[in-house]
Amino acid sequence: MKTILKKFFKSKTSLVDTLPPLRGKVIANCPLNKKTWFGVGGCAEVYVEPADIDDLCRLLQFMPSVPLTILGGGSNVLIRDGGIPGITIHLGKGFHTIKFDGTTIVCDGGVSLMELARAAAKQGVSGFEFLSGIPGTIGGAVRMNAGAHGKCLQDVLTSLMVITGEGEIREIDPNETEMFGYRKCYLPSDWIFVRAVLKGVEGKSANILATMEMYKQQRHNNQPVGVKTAGSTFKNPQGLQAWSLIDKAGFRGYRKGGAMVSDKHTNFLVNLGDATAKDIESLGEEIRQKVWDDFGVELEWEVKKMGIEKE
Ligand SMILES: Cc1cc2nc3c(=O)[nH]c(=O)nc-3n(C[C@H](O)[C@H](O)[C@H](O)COP(=O)(O)OP(=O)(O)OC[C@H]3O[C@@H](n4cnc5c(N)ncnc54)[C@H](O)[C@@H]3O)c2cc1C
Repeated sequence: MKTILKKFFKSKTSLVDTLPPLRGKVIANCPLNKKTWFGVGGCAEVYVEPADIDDLCRLLQFMPSVPLTILGGGSNVLIRDGGIPGITIHLGKGFHTIKFDGTTIVCDGGVSLMELARAAAKQGVSGFEFLSGIPGTIGGAVRMNAGAHGKCLQDVLTSLMVITGEGEIREIDPNETEMFGYRKCYLPSDWIFVRAVLKGVEGKSANILATMEMYKQQRHNNQPVGVKTAGSTFKNPQGLQAWSLIDKAGFRGYRKGGAMVSDKHTNFLVNLGDATAKDIESLGEEIRQKVWDDFGVELEWEVKKMGIEKE
């Protein structure tokens, strides 16, 4: 009898009721599709935007033992149709500060890369132009070691503040820790990057803005714009270009359900409007299989797949 009652009460207690009191935003069954660039995916069982670092530490220190997922700007993720079990954390309003000290920038993890690049241009700090066309946040860019035009995040990072999965604050010196690979960061996956110290060089605002404009034009020429996509789907295999392998395998413009291989850039998968996450993932897997069969090359997903499939 006792066991039956225990089971009954356990099933009645939802995860959101087991969280410590927080000052930030907490939403149960929060739809995530509008929070990602692909525009697909189910709900977060619980979605939390902590008010600040203290709130985040409190959550992590007293969090029930459930899976933890971190969502940045949602520009490099494919959230599956069944949603994300456990707690999904997003650094919202409380993580939006940028401070300048000469050519050093202290930037919160929730700041968008475009905001950072524009602020640096205004202050006459050069070195961040390459980030201006990459969507997403500083936190996500550190996790992905995001890069473009021959530079990546590791080239400008001098220090990183993280909150560990247990809610401990740590300062990481990238010169002392083996941190980065190609579109990869080796720090534990449950660490949350809340603040980055970045180093630029003195520059002239007009020149910086001109470079940003040139990069924007290059993107407009080579990539689909204004579509639902997560950018490059697969990493470039050593010495090869993923887009070229996909093109040679015959996928340019190929469709599966509501998903399509962009006819402008074949490493971009696009949601035509009514795609499910399953359409996109199975299109990606079909491409991987064909590229393997045709060229013996294994494509690795750059896009991070999250959550579970719909039953
Ligand atoms: C049109 C388009 C163009 C793109 N062009 C480029 C490009 O030129 N170069 C490039 O490198 N990428 C590019 N991308 C991919 C993407 O913009 C980058 O990977 C970006 O850095 C992801 O940041 P995000 O905040 O959106 O992270 P998300 O997509 O939300 O998450 C990506 C990963 O980072 C983790 N994460 C997010 N925030 C944090 C945090 N605060 N702490 C710890 N982990 C975190 C997530 O858990 C996930 O594993 C492009 C994407 C699009 C849609």
